[in-house]
Amino acid sequence: MLAIETLSVAAIEKGTVIDHIPAGSALSIFDLLQLRKFSHCISIGLNLPSQKKGRKDLIKIENHFLQPKEVHDIAIFAPQATINIILNFEVITKMTATLPDAVEKILICPNQHCITHVEPVFTIFFVEEFKRKVQLSCKYCEREFTLDELVGYSS
Ligand SMILES: [Zn+2]
Repeated sequence: MLAIETLSVAAIEKGTVIDHIPAGSALSIFDLLQLRKFSHCISIGLNLPSQKKGRKDLIKIENHFLQPKEVHDIAIFAPQATINIILNFEVITKMTATLPDAVEKILICPNQHCITHVEPVFTIFFVEEFKRKVQLSCKYCEREFTLDELVGYSS
């Protein structure tokens, strides 16, 4: 994939910068946070050079501050991501994503027979880390899934 390095250089006056996303995970986070629905300026950098890890992804959202819950939902794809809240071109808060206990509403259960496909309920997945891999178990059908098995995100 092409590096879009120019995007990483431009500073933003106000908003959120999600940094140190593992290369290849930015688009999953884009879907997870439903950024498609935003009208803010959003820049996505893929495979940018990183001093720590070789390559990283990065997302900048102008004029929007991520909520703590959203910050932690990011951790299922990017456990080491840092979230910078920017005001007047300065980082005023820096947070590290940590795995949430559960992810609500945004994921779709891959089990086609799950009641969440029939009843008008929000999905809830409990999050666990097993051998450094994230596992999600559906509250309703109790099946366990890896991130690779996720089929989509609710709209
Ligand atoms: Zn289910």
